[in-house]
Amino acid sequence: MFEGKRGLVLGVANRRSIAWAIARRLAAGGARLAFTYQGDRIEASVRELAGSVSSPLVTACDVRSDDDVARVFAETAETFGGELDVLVHSVAFAAAEDLEGRFTDTPRDRFWTALDVSAYSLVACARAAEPLMEAAGGGAIVTMTYLGGERAVPHYNVMGVAKAALDSSVKYLAWDLGRKNVRVNAVSAGPVRTLAARSIAGFPTMEAIVEERAPLHRPIDADDVAAAAAYLLSDDARNVTGTTLYVDSGYHAMGM
Ligand code: NAD
Repeated sequence: MFEGKRGLVLGVANRRSIAWAIARRLAAGGARLAFTYQGDRIEASVRELAGSVSSPLVTACDVRSDDDVARVFAETAETFGGELDVLVHSVAFAAAEDLEGRFTDTPRDRFWTALDVSAYSLVACARAAEPLMEAAGGGAIVTMTYLGGERAVPHYNVMGVAKAALDSSVKYLAWDLGRKNVRVNAVSAGPVRTLAARSIAGFPTMEAIVEERAPLHRPIDADDVAAAAAYLLSDDARNVTGTTLYVDSGYHAMGM
């Protein structure tokens, strides 16, 4: 499905990361993948995972830094002959203290950090990917969102506001980049146990509520999310852009 495609994956922290589940699927389909990691602490584990799919490039990227983003896309261009087909954006951050207690109490600096890392980073990466995807004749970008950007989910707080900005960015980017045959979509995942999820107070309650109230009454895992992302990144979705695909056992369809 991805034979001959070249991809860049942001957001692998460890083998539980949604980005890693997506990367495995893309690699199994024949894609060559470059990876970024944030911080020395996770470098070794990302290098090990990337090595297992014969990645030609593993490089550091803090998405808050314009210099990092520019360098990463320059290195990616060099690795893949100036072209890129697929971009996986699976990055988010909010301070742990803002994922408990009241949204009302979120201070200004941490509000902007959450939006910078979790929403603006998609815009910065899409802009940097644009010339490489144009050179490739088109491309596909996928990001990870959550229902907490559309409705108030207790504890999700400022991350929900960041997801709302991310969701809207997907639509505006889809409009801008559509003329260049670059598609931009999101997967809205139900609760998946990952590093990021563990910092949300009450995460086990979110899981339990989905199992109790979602039409399918069962949990989802990173591979379910990866299957949807792979579809959106594949040529099968050639006329799909600006959309959100829900992988949440149907929870989003319910009113109670
Ligand atoms: P994860 O912790 O494995 O991945 C989050 C990634 O964000 C990590 O790799 C981390 O290094 C990266 N990151 C954080 N700050 C960064 C920065 N400044 N620069 C670069 N990278 C940075 O957790 P995950 O659950 O796989 O999260 C991936 C995406 O999926 C996130 O956008 C998250 O909001 C979204 N999501 C997760 C769930 C869930 O239940 N796990 C549900 C819906 C959406």
